[in-house]
Amino acid sequence: MSSLRLLIKSLTSTSISSPRLVARSRGLGYGALGCCGRRSFSSMRWQWKDLRDMGEEEVKGLRVEEERLMRDLHETCEWGVGERWGSAPTETGMSRLSLSDTDKQARDWFTTTTEALGCKVTVDAMGNQFAIRPGMKDGAPTVAGSHLDTQPTGGRYDGILGVTAGIEMLRTLHSQDITTTYPVGVVNWTNEEGARFPISMVSSGVWSHNIPLSHAHALKEVGSGTATMKSELERIGYLGETSCSHEAMSLAAHFELHIEQGPILEAEKRKIGIVQGVQAYKWFTISVAGADCHTGTTSFQHRADALLAASKMIVYSHRAAARRNALASTGILILKPGSTNTVPGSVAFSLDIRSPDDAIVEAVEADCRTAFAALAAGKDIDGLGKDFVASSKSCSVSWQLDTHSPATKFSPICIECVSHAAEGLFGKDAEKLTKEMTSGAGHDSVYTSKRVPTTMIFVPSRDGVSHNPVEYTEPEDCALGAQVLMQAVLRFDGLRAEGRV
Ligand SMILES: [Zn+2]
Repeated sequence: MSSLRLLIKSLTSTSISSPRLVARSRGLGYGALGCCGRRSFSSMRWQWKDLRDMGEEEVKGLRVEEERLMRDLHETCEWGVGERWGSAPTETGMSRLSLSDTDKQARDWFTTTTEALGCKVTVDAMGNQFAIRPGMKDGAPTVAGSHLDTQPTGGRYDGILGVTAGIEMLRTLHSQDITTTYPVGVVNWTNEEGARFPISMVSSGVWSHNIPLSHAHALKEVGSGTATMKSELERIGYLGETSCSHEAMSLAAHFELHIEQGPILEAEKRKIGIVQGVQAYKWFTISVAGADCHTGTTSFQHRADALLAASKMIVYSHRAAARRNALASTGILILKPGSTNTVPGSVAFSLDIRSPDDAIVEAVEADCRTAFAALAAGKDIDGLGKDFVASSKSCSVSWQLDTHSPATKFSPICIECVSHAAEGLFGKDAEKLTKEMTSGAGHDSVYTSKRVPTTMIFVPSRDGVSHNPVEYTEPEDCALGAQVLMQAVLRFDGLRAEGRV
């Protein structure tokens, strides 16, 4: 359909809520189409566009505005200001816990801002906010999603950039009066951080039917408070009536712009991470049992030293992971009885194994299981018996699986949209400035990918630092990420229009 035909169609339409009519009336400087009957047709500005009528170069030429994006980002950071780390006005961190009073202020801003950009905002039973801008056709929206909540000592970019970049996409479309073929929008997912209510990505998890709503609603806040997610949703007025479900609020695709939270892009002087998926991980608690004994009267030959055995196991896990280009880490170590002059007879430690490949996580685990049993028995594995005194006594080891998160593979079609967007932006430098990556951390996109085509876009984090007030991404890099985000969403919409997805 040509623009002219669409324009005439819009002028004869009885609806005044259509975004292109609202856009036109704003462009003409009066409030509603109903009052334009006396205006001559020739005085109207032919400014709105159907995305399908724009050539590829014209779409590619659509640019987000860096200054406007950074203004949104920093203005929203006035709600929940955290620790100061520098002297400039924006050199503070963030402390905006989910469903707090400051989170409510940011949410209210999200609603007001997106409604002014022609969106309808739906709030579901987990307080997720879906701001949807209608397209030429009805259908599930293609969205940019992330989160506005932060860690208690977080920064200004984790999550916030993804939401404000989505809003910058809406601002760009709105200011140029462009209507996409299908609806597009922005989602603010509740409590992604899991910092206040202790399950991260909990609300996208309910939306994807991976976490029961009742379980999420009953989550108590961390610390001495008695509030639950449900009581806080009610208190701040964000317990929505729409059911929290991918069936009630379906999406066509989910794109998430996020800071890398790691050092790779910066170190390699690249600008955009094209995220292929999220790595698999398994968390275990390993218990080692030996025997308490006196440190002064028990010779090395007669000890069952649980901590010494555990230490060798932790060293071994590092080697087992390193051999396979995976990660293994211990973050918790509990030993008993905890006395200077008693050899500990009981040790428990956490083991976190990660890799983009499920099979590699399994291989590291299997290797460690065999080696840990041998090390507990006092055998020399991988040189870990060298220079130690052999003992007549041995320890035993047991494993408990705490969490298993298989590898997430993002949608090839969404990844193609991001690559295409980056090529459009960087031209022949695209290969040099982009990198295919796997996310080391979990994001809402993990859950959305279980239901709809999903991918993520990373931008550099200074020194790889995140979950820290000094977290920082250059404004230029924020804008490059927002640009790729918008172009990827528009590409996906274009592919839908052509019936290719
Ligand atoms: Zn985040």
